[in-house]
Amino acid sequence: MDNCIFCMIAGHTLDARVVYEDDLVLAFDDITPQAPVHTLIIPKCHYADMSDNVPPAVMTALFTAVPKVAALKGVDTTGYRVIVNNGRDASQSVAHLHVHLLGGRSMSHGMVSFG
Ligand code: AMP
Repeated sequence: MDNCIFCMIAGHTLDARVVYEDDLVLAFDDITPQAPVHTLIIPKCHYADMSDNVPPAVMTALFTAVPKVAALKGVDTTGYRVIVNNGRDASQSVAHLHVHLLGGRSMSHGMVSFG
């Protein structure tokens, strides 16, 4: 999709620190990390959010990539937080579905924040 920065990253026309890639998804480090490990996992095709008729295979690929990325980033044994900010009320700021994987520090028990 034109003017979507995550589509550009998926298409390798915008630089990112890529951590993992397969046929359906790409993972790259967040440009403004909220934890020592903060990686985003995105579908390569454009879906605005989880309510954008995401095919089950893509949803599966996204979440199957999570433990793989956690292992690649070295947080699989220490734990990590997985967040999807979905839509306006969740303050989603990039309208291309993405999963945040955060780790490398202790996080409070709040369900909905990076904190
Ligand atoms: P959200 O607020 O859930 O939509 O998260 C969007 C995330 O994308 C934020 O954590 C940003 O820091 C991150 N982000 C925005 N632009 C880039 C970029 N060019 N490369 C890596 N991460 C980015």
